[in-house]
Amino acid sequence: MSDTKKIHGQFDPAQPIQDFLVFGEFGDVNPSITDSSTYTFLSAEKMEELFEHEIEGCFLYSRHWNPINRYLSQALAGMEGTESAIVTSSGMAAISCSILQFCSSGDEVVASRTIYGGTYALFKNFLPKLGITVRFVNMTDLDAVKSAINANTKIIYCESVSNPLLEVVNLPKLSKLAHSHNLKLIVDNTFSPLMISPAVHGADIIVHSLTKFINGTSDCVAGCICTSHENVEALTNINSGASMLLGPVLDSYRAASILKNLHSLHLRVTQHSANALYIAQQLENLGLKVFYPGLKSYKHYNLMTAIMNKKYGFGGMLALDCGTPEKADELMIAMQNNKVGYLAVSLGYFKTLFSSPGHSTSSEIPPEERDAMGLSDGLVRFSIGLDNNIELSFIRIKKGLEEVGLIKS
Ligand SMILES: *Cc1c(COP(=O)(O)O)cnc(C)c1O
Repeated sequence: MSDTKKIHGQFDPAQPIQDFLVFGEFGDVNPSITDSSTYTFLSAEKMEELFEHEIEGCFLYSRHWNPINRYLSQALAGMEGTESAIVTSSGMAAISCSILQFCSSGDEVVASRTIYGGTYALFKNFLPKLGITVRFVNMTDLDAVKSAINANTKIIYCESVSNPLLEVVNLPKLSKLAHSHNLKLIVDNTFSPLMISPAVHGADIIVHSLTKFINGTSDCVAGCICTSHENVEALTNINSGASMLLGPVLDSYRAASILKNLHSLHLRVTQHSANALYIAQQLENLGLKVFYPGLKSYKHYNLMTAIMNKKYGFGGMLALDCGTPEKADELMIAMQNNKVGYLAVSLGYFKTLFSSPGHSTSSEIPPEERDAMGLSDGLVRFSIGLDNNIELSFIRIKKGLEEVGLIKS
């Protein structure tokens, strides 16, 4: 454990993440899976002391902390270059705990208007019940962000690469703005693990849905919060911490399997990126309207190249505008029949997944602005897989495009 601690805060994006992993205490190459909800004490005083403050290497109860969740958390903190981290039972748990820990009734959040549907619903429908107001803005317009900030604002919330149009947020400028108003910047980095390191650009709290690229096998739901020691202590405080008291503990068997998948994240992200870049370029060559941060024609290409960790590429997510929702649906069925991948929500799986983001998070955006952004009802969002023969996959996509008349055969 002491090795891992030394690395905190010294993140080198080029360093393979295996360096952050901790070996088992009995010499296992993988750490032992915690199979206990509770832990023994040699004295009553020690137990009392642990209620007061953290003791290195001591565990009380698995909803608070357990060894395997701590290993996974440390590996994720190493990946994001933060001092500390806490894993949660879902990405939504990471997001709701981060907001609820640092906001009270009467406080406000300035959030991007293009965010994950579940986050949008939490902000729009649920937080107001607790007296927390969320103002939705165009995060790529810093003046709009600035004018939404007032004396009650506590948090700026965004995704580093937004859903579904893959707009890239100017993290260095946004964190400067947040800190000049004494606000915390929370960044959801689910779409761009390793590719973008928000902490390097000044973000205070980084949340992930581990369900997606980080786990990568679409077999579980999990999340994490990467942030300072101080914030993790607040979140896990036995008497006042959101992750302790709201109870979103990650099961230790899952923590162990996610930790093993994390070993290959750097290879997977690189392959997802290479495949998605190829598909994006081919679709663009066909004259189609495609959104991908790695295309030179893309509006945020320069910003992306300025803030990204280049060796991991531009990521596995891309969007294609099919014009109408009907065409989008037809194309997705044709691609599924042609074995391109699956019509399914979620992302980061080793096979290609596609879905139509529809109207969910876009209702807040006036029609003129939606047009200006290119946010169409006919959008298909792709999470490109780890295909070993991406040329063949593209031939299958092209066949689908021909079948539904989006291109001429
Ligand atoms: C999936 C997702 C979430 C929610 O994560 P869960 O693990 O499903 O709770 C949050 N943000 C983004 C960007 C996502 O893609």
